[in-house]
Amino acid sequence: PYVITQPCIGNKDASCHEACPVDAIHPSPDDPGFDEHDQLYIDPDECIDCGACEPVCPVEAIFPEYEVPEEWQASIGANRGFFERP
Ligand code: SF4
Repeated sequence: PYVITQPCIGNKDASCHEACPVDAIHPSPDDPGFDEHDQLYIDPDECIDCGACEPVCPVEAIFPEYEVPEEWQASIGANRGFFERP
């Protein structure tokens, strides 16, 4: 799957959310609690690796999991973890 990394924090442009054909990116800007979240996340079980989100991110925060830079490796677990919340 693709992963959203730290540059998204505090930015949340959400262009990726509109670009994703399978609605794998959350939260949506339309969600009531959107402002309470630091960044957006990609559901690894929903992502179909189409790559549509990567070029539209204005801060280049999105990478395929195997290309996540060393300093942002923690984002891989953070994306997975977001969707394991009760
Ligand atoms: Fe959605 Fe495609 Fe990005 Fe996966 S790679 S999150 S399916 S836009």
